[in-house]
Amino acid sequence: MTSSRTPDSPETKYQRVMLKISGEALMGDQGFGLHPPTVQRIAQEVKSVHDLGVEICMVIGGGNIFRGLSGAAQGMERTTADYMGMLATVMNALAMQAALESLGVFTRVISAIPMDQVCEPYIRRRAVRHLEKKRVCIFAAGTGNPYFTTDTAATLRANEMGCQAIFKGTKVDGVYDKDPVKFPDAKRYEVVSYDDVLAKRLGVMDASAIALARDNNLPIIVFSLDEPGGFRGILAGRGTYTTVCG
Ligand code: UDP
Repeated sequence: MTSSRTPDSPETKYQRVMLKISGEALMGDQGFGLHPPTVQRIAQEVKSVHDLGVEICMVIGGGNIFRGLSGAAQGMERTTADYMGMLATVMNALAMQAALESLGVFTRVISAIPMDQVCEPYIRRRAVRHLEKKRVCIFAAGTGNPYFTTDTAATLRANEMGCQAIFKGTKVDGVYDKDPVKFPDAKRYEVVSYDDVLAKRLGVMDASAIALARDNNLPIIVFSLDEPGGFRGILAGRGTYTTVCG
């Protein structure tokens, strides 16, 4: 169920999108936690797309605070560690909500794990209504299940909300055949198939997220969040990025 309405702005072909960012994107140059100026900068990027009338869903990871796998590696029960990771994503979602609202963008944090005093529980039809009213919906607590990641949560919610694409904001401007930080001769793909991402283990998103996107024909656009104005530019088809599709 993809949103089929005409975009509000001629600048972009998109009317409803999912923006996925990792928790680490919010920590700036620190090794941990939240860096408020960075959160504010990303909020500004989101606002400039919101100003076009695009309906925006967001999923933010939790890796800047806690990752289930690292907890498990230190002897913690995996499911407990994963629940801690999911709670970390709620903190990041609240930080992004505060930053967006300071810029005058209305938002809702919607959690897969009900915590009524803090944010809304996830009810699909309600979330769709928020989007129609141009509220940015920040989906928190992942899928609500251990053994998953927020990449899968982003793909799941993007499908449920009828998003036209997932925009994955990273530190690099697309998907490369090898790590561009380590290998200067790494080549960026313009377009790459879901199956190649899986077969070559290109590290765009985890395998369950890629498979869920593939099975529902949901394009994933990988771009750099470090470029000022980058998110809006990418929505208008400018700049460098990689499209993962069939
Ligand atoms: N997590 C989970 N189920 C989900 C989503 C997330 O258990 O549906 C946990 C998992 O432990 C994960 C942590 O939350 O390590 C933080 O999410 P993620 O690693 O995806 O964050 P990112 O790498 O994007 O910052």
